[in-house]
Amino acid sequence: MTEVWEPVPEVVTPGSNGSSPSDAIVLFNVENLDQWGVAPRGNRERIIEHFSKDLAISPAEWTVEDGVMTVKPGSGDIITRQGFGDIQLHIEWKTPEEIDGDGQQRGNSGLFLQGLYEIQILDSFENPTNPNGQAGSVYKQRIPYVNVSLPPGEWQSFDIFFEAPVFRDDGRLVKPAYVTVLHNGILIQHRTKIKGPTVFRGLPEYVKHPEKLPIRLQDHGDYVSFRNIWVRELNH
Ligand code: MG
Repeated sequence: MTEVWEPVPEVVTPGSNGSSPSDAIVLFNVENLDQWGVAPRGNRERIIEHFSKDLAISPAEWTVEDGVMTVKPGSGDIITRQGFGDIQLHIEWKTPEEIDGDGQQRGNSGLFLQGLYEIQILDSFENPTNPNGQAGSVYKQRIPYVNVSLPPGEWQSFDIFFEAPVFRDDGRLVKPAYVTVLHNGILIQHRTKIKGPTVFRGLPEYVKHPEKLPIRLQDHGDYVSFRNIWVRELNH
């Protein structure tokens, strides 16, 4: 009575030596930024509107060299051309080896899930700042459990499990977003409830948006680099 034979889980071949698993969508590996465009500048409503209406996105201008993409300061945030809901995401990032500035002005970037919810990327190695703004924080919302930061110039990873928020047709929030984050393989956020889109000042508040929105990487003016970015869509 307790032996269940279906459904049979899909076969997935895991990656080896940093490669992506067989069912992943590779967003960046070595060559180009084809899957990325310039994020519409301005407030979050513009990002939602832009993506909901499928408006044209101009090509991303960040630098690509030797399999690594690097922020080109002043060229703006970039977003994926594809939108995502619930995902598992892997990303590797590196802050500049040469230290320039301190606190929030040192190796700052960010990964915005659905373009709206920021997991902070920062050089947080021996670099005091507000802990809810250090690397791996849900920016201005939740401090990471521990600081797993490696020295500047070393590659680090985030493995992220994201549950997108759910809205009713009338705009009411049915379920908030949740996020789990491993930083260099260590748990630093465990199904953290996201309070709403990231805001620099003030309190976050949810705004109804499409089920799928792009991933955004932040140009905060620092030469932060990225490689080996992939996602798995979770529809379980
Ligand atoms: Mg940031």
